[in-house]
Amino acid sequence: MSAPEQVDLLILGAGPAGMAAAIAARGQGVSVLLLDENAGPGGQVHRAIETRAAKDDQDADGARLVLALRTSGADLRFGATLWAIEPGGKVFWSEGGVGPEARGTQARSITARRVLLCAGATERPLPIPGWTLPGVMSVGAAQIALKTAGLVPEARVWIAGQGPLLWLYAKQALAAGGRIAGIVDLSHGVPPDALRHLPRALLAPGYLAKGLAWQYAVKRAGVPILRAESLRAEGEDRLRRIVIDEVAHEADLLLLHDGVVPNTQVTRAIPGCLHDWDAVQACWRPRLDAWGNTTVEGVMVAGDAGGIGGARAAAHAGRLAALEVAHALGRLTRNQRDAEAGRWRLALNRQLAPRRFLDALFPPLPAAAIADDTILCRCEEVTAGRVREAVSLGCLGANQTKAFTRTGMGPCQGRVCGPAVHAVIAAAREVDPAAVDPFRTRFPTKPLTLGELAALAS
Ligand SMILES: Cc1cc2nc3c(=O)[nH]c(=O)nc-3n(C[C@H](O)[C@H](O)[C@H](O)COP(=O)(O)OP(=O)(O)OC[C@H]3O[C@@H](n4cnc5c(N)ncnc54)[C@H](O)[C@@H]3O)c2cc1C
Repeated sequence: MSAPEQVDLLILGAGPAGMAAAIAARGQGVSVLLLDENAGPGGQVHRAIETRAAKDDQDADGARLVLALRTSGADLRFGATLWAIEPGGKVFWSEGGVGPEARGTQARSITARRVLLCAGATERPLPIPGWTLPGVMSVGAAQIALKTAGLVPEARVWIAGQGPLLWLYAKQALAAGGRIAGIVDLSHGVPPDALRHLPRALLAPGYLAKGLAWQYAVKRAGVPILRAESLRAEGEDRLRRIVIDEVAHEADLLLLHDGVVPNTQVTRAIPGCLHDWDAVQACWRPRLDAWGNTTVEGVMVAGDAGGIGGARAAAHAGRLAALEVAHALGRLTRNQRDAEAGRWRLALNRQLAPRRFLDALFPPLPAAAIADDTILCRCEEVTAGRVREAVSLGCLGANQTKAFTRTGMGPCQGRVCGPAVHAVIAAAREVDPAAVDPFRTRFPTKPLTLGELAALAS
C-alpha cells in the first residue's frame, strides 16, 4: 500500500497512548497515519487483544480502544518500523514484511505536520553471570510469547529479579496453566522511604490491590519464593542450573526482570530533543510540557515513552496530546482545547497518584553489585569489568566508553545494554547518574537493508 505524501499527524505506536491519541485526533478532523512494528494494535499491555478473549477490566479497556481505532478513519500501518525523522517532519519507516500480503520490506516516507511518539517502554536489563546462555530470557519476552502464542512455562522455570511485571507475569502464567519452579526475589524488601508515599497512592487503591492480588495468587499456587543476594546461570551448552546464594538448583528456563524504562531510542536521535535524568524512576526521559511537546517544534511524546505511568495514564496522555495537535493545526481554539482537556487531566493525575510509591517500592537493583566478569553488552560481549577499566582510564560517559570498548556498537545499538552500561559507569565514577551521558543514538535507529532504501528512491 503506498502512503500519501503529507499527513496532519503521524503517530508512532499503537499502544494505549497511540490508539487513544489517534481516536481523539480523528474526532477533531485531524488526518492520522499510525505506524507500529507489531502485527496488530494493542502495544505491550493489550498485545494481540483482537485474537484472545478479554479476561479482566484492562483487557476490556484494550478491546474498546482497538474497536474505536479500527473505525476512527486513521490510516493504520502494522509491521511498519519507524527508523528516522528529519527536521521539518519528514518521517521514514519500513513496512510490508509481515502479514498475509507480505512481499518484502520496503522503505517509505511522509511529511507530517505533527509527529507524536508513543513508543512505550523497554525492560531494564538484568545482567547476571550466564545471562547470555540459551534458556535465559526476559520476563517481558515470555509475556509476549504467552499473549501472542499462548506459550506457558513448563518444566523447571525460574523467575528472578524485581518489579511489578515479574509478579504480573507469574500470575498470568499460572492462570494459563503454566508451572513455575520458584521465584528468586533479588529486591531488598520494602525500602523504608517508600512508605511516606503510601497515603497518596491510596487515592488510587485499585493499583495496590491488584499488586497484592498477584503476589497472593503466586503464593496460593505454592510457588516457592526465595529472597536472595546473588544469582548466576550455569550450563555448558545451554542453561542447566541456577545458583542462588551459592546453592545450585536444576533449571530449564530462567526469566529475568528489573523493571521498565521509557523507550527513548528515537527521541534521543532527534537533534535538540532534550532529556532529563529521572532520579525516582532511574531513567532518562524526554523533557515535555503538560501537553507532551518536546523541545523540538512539532515533535511530541505521550505514554510510557515520556515516563512510566501505566496503560490508563498513557491513554489519557495520548488524548491530551491529540487536543494540543488539534489546537496547533487550528481545529480547536485555546479555550476549546483547555475545556476538553480538563477531564483527561484529572483522570491522568488520578492514574499517576500511586506512581511515586510504586517507583520507591521497586528501585532498580544496584549496578555496583554486578560482577566484573558479567557480560553487559551482549552484542559485542563486553563485560562490566571492561567498562569499569575504561572508566579508570578516564571515560566519563557511555559514548566515550563505547569508543574504548565497543559496548553499544552492535546490532541493538545499546537498546538492551544502555541502562546497565550507564548505571555501571555512574557507580564506578561514584557520581549522580545525571552527570553521565547516555548512549547517543543515531538514525536509522533500527537496522534496514539496501533493498529497502532503494525502494525509497523508486
Ligand atoms: C515487556 C513489557 C511488558 C509489559 N506488560 C504489561 C502488562 O502486561 N500490563 C501492564 O499494565 N503494563 C505492562 N507493561 C507496561 C506497559 O507497557 C504500559 O504501561 C503501556 O502499555 C504503555 O502504553 P504505551 O502506549 O505508552 O506504550 P506501548 O503499549 O508499549 O506501545 C508502544 C508501541 O510502540 C511500538 N513501537 C516502538 N518503537 C517503534 C518503532 N521504531 N517503529 C514502530 N513501532 C514502534 C511498539 O511496537 C508498541 O506497540 C509492559 C511493559 C513492557 C516493556
